[in-house]
Amino acid sequence: MDLKSVIRDVPDFPQPGVIFKDITPLLQSTSAFKYALDILTERYQGERVDDVVAIEARGFIFGAPLALRLNAGFVPVRKKGKLPHKTVGIEYGLEYGSEAVELHEDGVLPGKRVLIVDDVLATGGTAAAAKSLVEQLGGHVIGLAFIIELSFLNGRRRLPGVDLFSVIEYHTPDES
Ligand code: AMP
Repeated sequence: MDLKSVIRDVPDFPQPGVIFKDITPLLQSTSAFKYALDILTERYQGERVDDVVAIEARGFIFGAPLALRLNAGFVPVRKKGKLPHKTVGIEYGLEYGSEAVELHEDGVLPGKRVLIVDDVLATGGTAAAAKSLVEQLGGHVIGLAFIIELSFLNGRRRLPGVDLFSVIEYHTPDES
């Protein structure tokens, strides 16, 4: 299945110069959504995953069903101020602007095997922040999984030493 055909490019969103990869057409297609989840499930079902840590907001869309399929817990990483219980937090730079994210301090227990999930890997700042939070709590990040990797932004370079998997890769900004 050609998943790129259900990813919509939205130029200059949310700011000039950014080509936003819109996954809503993929989500609207039950066959495409299921196919993307099947690829992720097959990639990780042979490994022990205790928790899927997914990043707000679009990471939740893939992280929650993947957690159920892998018999793992689901743990949200959210924007600062959204989680109700005690948190650990971190600030980081983004492709557009800056951001602060948090994780419940009991969201990941020491020694747990964690898979981090998000929709898009761009510069890698968000994933690196999530990884750092998990490790701060003593969790072991066994992998990072994305639907889309914008490899021309070199996000992988910020995430050395950890297995990184993406379903769809874009090598140039204008590839669609
Ligand atoms: P980064 O921290 O630069 O890797 O950015 C990743 C986060 O920003 C992910 O949560 C994405 O949802 C979002 N993001 C960054 N760039 C894009 C893009 N071009 N299209 C869609 N989402 C993006």
